[in-house]
Amino acid sequence: MRLRNVRGSRETIAADECVLHDPEEQRAQKGRWHELFGNDHPIHIEVGMGKGQFIMTLAQQNPDINYIGIEKYSSVLVRALEKYHTYEGDNIFFLRMDAEEIADVFDENEVDRIYLNFSDPWPKDRHAKRRLTSKEYWARYDRILCPEGRVIFKTDNRPLFDFSLEQVEVAGWQLDNYTFDLHHSEYAEGNVMTEYEERFTAKGNPICRLVAHRDPQKKG
Ligand code: SAM
Repeated sequence: MRLRNVRGSRETIAADECVLHDPEEQRAQKGRWHELFGNDHPIHIEVGMGKGQFIMTLAQQNPDINYIGIEKYSSVLVRALEKYHTYEGDNIFFLRMDAEEIADVFDENEVDRIYLNFSDPWPKDRHAKRRLTSKEYWARYDRILCPEGRVIFKTDNRPLFDFSLEQVEVAGWQLDNYTFDLHHSEYAEGNVMTEYEERFTAKGNPICRLVAHRDPQKKG
């Protein structure tokens, strides 16, 4: 993703009550997310949220679900905040952090669903561990997801998708379903598009999607 530095974005984020940006403050929230939302609704997170169109659409559609958008860069997150402040719901928070630390911020079983949308491909083999669907990341998701939890991943990048299908197996997870052409599949109905999905769909790229869970014997 090409990044343009947005002047003042760090300060804007630091001043915004719906963002947790300080690592200590984030870690202090571990196991206490329901307290922050003030209810016991399920928690769904999007890792690598970008400008937030997807998660904010879901939040509006599902007021009884708590959403947390995770984004590494202030200059991207600040764009999501602009959208957020036109929305009147109170079921979203944002984390500015690297998802590598995710298991320090959420407790075991604290998350009910994880969305990964158009994650950075990191095409070089030596960077494979950085892909959000590498076995290292599945191990992190394993630590925070509740036993019936699901990870849902969409991309138009076929090599990354093939790698992800392999890594699901390597990590000992199981596929509920997958498709190489979401928009022309039985799973198309109700699909909420992300910014990148709109862009790649307009170019005619098919969108791949997988849904995975882990062996219920292993957890719970
Ligand atoms: N999900 C959005 C979409 O589909 O339109 C944005 C996709 S963009 C290609 C990937 C986003 O993930 C970028 O905003 C990037 O900064 C963020 N990202 C990549 N690696 C991350 C990580 N380790 N932790 C948090 N965010 C990350």
